[in-house]
Amino acid sequence: MIGKRRVVSAIAGAVCVAVALALSLSCNTEPPSSTIDTAQIVGVKIYGHDGDLQTLFDRWQVLGVSTVFVGEELARREDFRFQAERTGTDLFLIFPVFLAIDEVIDDPSLYAVTADGSKAVDDWVEFACPSREDFRTQRIEEAVALVREVRPAALSLDFIRYFVFWEMVGPGQDPQSLPDSCFCPHCLSRFTDEMGQTIPPGDSAESAGWIHEHALDDWVEFKRQSIIGMVEEIVAAVREVQPEIAINLHAVPWRETDFDRAVVRIAGQDHSVLGGMVNYLSPMCYSFMQYQPPEWIASVVQDLDRQSACPVLPSIQVGTAYREGKEFGVAEFESALRAALEPPSAGVVFWSWDAIAAEPEKEAAIARVLAE
Ligand SMILES: [Zn+2]
Repeated sequence: MIGKRRVVSAIAGAVCVAVALALSLSCNTEPPSSTIDTAQIVGVKIYGHDGDLQTLFDRWQVLGVSTVFVGEELARREDFRFQAERTGTDLFLIFPVFLAIDEVIDDPSLYAVTADGSKAVDDWVEFACPSREDFRTQRIEEAVALVREVRPAALSLDFIRYFVFWEMVGPGQDPQSLPDSCFCPHCLSRFTDEMGQTIPPGDSAESAGWIHEHALDDWVEFKRQSIIGMVEEIVAAVREVQPEIAINLHAVPWRETDFDRAVVRIAGQDHSVLGGMVNYLSPMCYSFMQYQPPEWIASVVQDLDRQSACPVLPSIQVGTAYREGKEFGVAEFESALRAALEPPSAGVVFWSWDAIAAEPEKEAAIARVLAE
C-alpha cells in the first residue's frame, strides 16, 4: 500500500503554497516530516510484559507489526527500546493527558465538575479539570521529560479531551444525557474572561444551567479552544526537544454529527482542526463494545478523513470487553479488521496485544488478512 501520509503531506503542502502565494501567508500548521515509514501502519497496544522481549518482537515481525504503542512503563525500559531498535519497530509513546486517576487522589480539587455539580468520575474514568494552569504545565513538563528520555518515533496523545466514558455510550443513547463539563470555578472564571460572558452568581449546577440556556455556542467554542490550545502547547514543547517527533491523537470514535455533535460539544475534540496539527488521528473504533457492526469502523475513518488533513489510523478491539457474557467472535473480528483497512485508512492498531496473544485464532486471522 502506498503511504498515504506522503501523499496527503504533498497535497497539504501544495495547498499551503497556493494559499501562501495568494494571501502572502505562511503555512505554519503542517506538521514537520517524521522518521516513520510511510507504508501502512500495523500497530499493537501493549501495557506490560513479563516474558522474553526478543521472542515477543520476533513474533511481531512474523505477524507484520510495524509499530508498538506503549505506556510510560514499557517505554522507559532500555531492553524494550533495544528490541524496538533491533527490529525497526516504531515506538509510539502513549501519553494520557486529562485522565488523572492518581493526581485527583492527591488533590481532589483537580477533579473536573459536571453539569449537575458532581465530580467527573465514571467507573475507572476520572478526569482533571482542563483549565488548571498548574496541571496543564505539569502534564507538558511530564511529556517533555518522557520524550527526552525515551526518544519515541511518536507521542500518542490519549485522553486529550473533556470527560466522558464514551466506551459506554451506545448507539441509542440520548445525546442530552451525555455528561457536560467542566463547571468548576476555574473554568467558569476562564469562560467569563475569554468569552465575555457574565454568569449570574450560583454554584456549578446553577451556572451550568444558565450557560446551557443562554450561552451554549460560546461554551462549546470555549471547550473546543481549550483542547486545541493544550495540543498546541504539548506539540510545541516536545518538538523543542525532538523536532522530528510525530504526534498521534487518540480520537473519540464519534462522527461529526453523532449524538448531536457530541464530539465537539461534549468531548471538545474538533477533528477538523486537530487533524491539521498532528501527524495521525487514531479513532478508537472499538465496534463490539459500541454495539456497532464492522462497517461502522470504515464510516468513522471516512468521516474523520473528510474533516482532517492528516492520515486516519483506526484502532480496533480484539478481545471481548464491557460486554461480558457475549463473545466477540473470530469472524466478526476479521470483518472488523477488513473494515479498518479499507481506504482511506492509514493502517490498523490492535487493542491490545494481550488480547491477540490470548486468542490464537484471531492472531491467525490477522496474519491471513495482512498477507492478502
Ligand atoms: Zn474546570
